Amino acid sequence: MRPHGTEGRYNEGCTCPGCRAAHAKKHREYTRRKMAQRVLIDGRLVAPVPAEMHGKHSTYRQYGCKCAPCVEANRVTIAAQRTARLTERILIDGRLVAPVPPEMHDRYTTYQNYGCRCIPCTTANSRKRRGDRKASR
Ligand SMILES: [Zn+2]
Ligand SMILES: [Zn+2]
Ligand SMILES: [Zn+2]
Repeated sequence: MRPHGTEGRYNEGCTCPGCRAAHAKKHREYTRRKMAQRVLIDGRLVAPVPAEMHGKHSTYRQYGCKCAPCVEANRVTIAAQRTARLTERILIDGRLVAPVPPEMHDRYTTYQNYGCRCIPCTTANSRKRRGDRKASR
C-alpha cells in the first residue's frame, strides 16, 4: 500500500482528505500544463487538440481553448444553462422566484443570473444599477 496523501493512494480508491488534496494538486498541475500548451493563433489561445474536439464546451472548459468554435459552444452552453435556470423559477405572490438557498437572495447576481424577481433581489438590482450610473458619471 502506498502512503496516505499521495496521488497513487487516491487512485487505489482512498478518499481521505490527504489523498484528496494530493489528487487536487495533481489535477491543478495537469490543468495548468494543458493551459500552457495552448498556442496563439490569430490572437486566440488555441488548445493543441484533434480537430474533432473543437467546437465543444468541454474543450473550452478543460483546455481553455479560445478558438471561435469553442468560444461559441461555451456561449451556447451557458445560455442553455441560464434558460434552464429561468424555467425552474416558481411563482410566489405573483413574482417569479429562483429556487436558490435563502443566503443567495438579496443579491443582484441572483436577479441577473437566475432571473429571481423576489423583492430583496429586485431591490438589490436597482441599488446596483443606481450605483453603476453614479460610478460612470
Ligand atoms: Zn488516504
Ligand atoms: Zn477550440
Ligand atoms: Zn431572490
